[in-house]
Amino acid sequence: MFKKILIANRGEIALRIQRACKEMGIKAVVVYSEADREAKYVKLADEAVCIGPASSTLSYLNMPAIIATAEVTDAEAIHPGYGFLSENANFAERVEKSGFVFIGPTPESIRLMGDKVSAKQAMIKSGVPCVPGSEGALPEDPKEIIRIARTVGYPVIIKAAGGGGGRGMRVVHTEAALIHAVQTTRAEAGAAFGNSQVYMEKFLERPRHVEIQILADTFRNAVWLGERDCSMQRRHQKIIEEAPAPGIARRVIEKIGDRCSAACKKIGYRGAGTFEFLFQDGEFYFIEMNTRVQVEHPVTEMVTGIDIVQMQIRIAAGEKLPFAQRNIQMRGHAIECRINAEDPYKFTPSPGRISLWHAPGGPGVRVDSHVYTNYFVPPNYDSMIGKLICHGDTRDQALARMRTALSETVVEGIQTNIPLHRELMADAKFIEGGTSIHYLEGWLGQHRR
Ligand code: ADP
Repeated sequence: MFKKILIANRGEIALRIQRACKEMGIKAVVVYSEADREAKYVKLADEAVCIGPASSTLSYLNMPAIIATAEVTDAEAIHPGYGFLSENANFAERVEKSGFVFIGPTPESIRLMGDKVSAKQAMIKSGVPCVPGSEGALPEDPKEIIRIARTVGYPVIIKAAGGGGGRGMRVVHTEAALIHAVQTTRAEAGAAFGNSQVYMEKFLERPRHVEIQILADTFRNAVWLGERDCSMQRRHQKIIEEAPAPGIARRVIEKIGDRCSAACKKIGYRGAGTFEFLFQDGEFYFIEMNTRVQVEHPVTEMVTGIDIVQMQIRIAAGEKLPFAQRNIQMRGHAIECRINAEDPYKFTPSPGRISLWHAPGGPGVRVDSHVYTNYFVPPNYDSMIGKLICHGDTRDQALARMRTALSETVVEGIQTNIPLHRELMADAKFIEGGTSIHYLEGWLGQHRR
């Protein structure tokens, strides 16, 4: 096992990874920007090195500074967390070329899955069902594009091959709007992702977002750890996640889960990963794979009892998976609310000093957050300041615990989306379970104040 790991991230996930390291007796080195100097997890780390100013480009995305820090601190491996450099194949390559272990999949796997066109093609080959659409990237010829759209059937969605974070997508309802939409998405994708390739999918009208968590070791063993329903989204950004997905028959989930672990073996995947699907009318349609730990991993940890971050580290250190599929048991239900520093209804970011932070507690309650009273939320990064996760024997109990936990949580000095979570936990349709990815935006339209 490693003696020392460098954590190339910030915020709650940097703390989460540090906790995994400490529990395993591994020393943790954190890198931080000038804006994160005061963060407590920086002070809690075995070693901490400032690698640049607040701007991510000069700090958390600064590959030479991160690798140089690993060198001077004698770290053996680098954990990239999520976001920042976590899905950057060039970074993974540079880490390994410099003699360190990248805690994640191979650069080849990251590259394959990072291009959504090649990812879909690999999935089709591995027998994972995909959203019907263009076979590969769209051609230049407008006539050809029109023909493809007619075959797929309107509405269609034009998506950037290099897209991510809910950006680089455009829904098209009529042939008249098609070519312009393709051109605009191409131009935006070129500017934003440095890859102007786009592809087309059938636009599903009322799908749910259901994803499968997998773990694969370097001995071609792969398991799946159940599913998560992440349908509560705004602008393609998840805000509530839960496991298991309400109302989907276990045999339907098992079939898709087994396909995902088989696909991992086929492509030689290693580490943790997530297969994201849209689920509509009883069918799963693959949309993309995330080759890293996800924000919502705790709901899976709560129902399986498996520490996903520790497993990532063990796999990277060359250990075999300590369990087979038949040993994985799901217990109860878990729900996660992402706590964001933002106006709960207008969604404008609300950075600043937290004058009072009181975290909830009690049975089945987990808080993953790096903030505290007097913590300053810097304006430079993502607005998520923590996650509240509640587990219960049943979904109803998890919901009741979440309501209690939300009522106990106090954040003063900045605005957060906690009032929105309180309302959603009392919403009849959410309580019923199985709402689609469009539900929240419709709800916000009706409850706008
Ligand atoms: P990103 O990498 O930007 O997250 P995804 O391919 O995962 O992109 O899609 C993000 C979200 O966009 C999905 O969760 C879903 O809400 C919506 N979406 C993507 N593809 C489709 C589709 N074919 N039909 C309907 N909605 C879609």
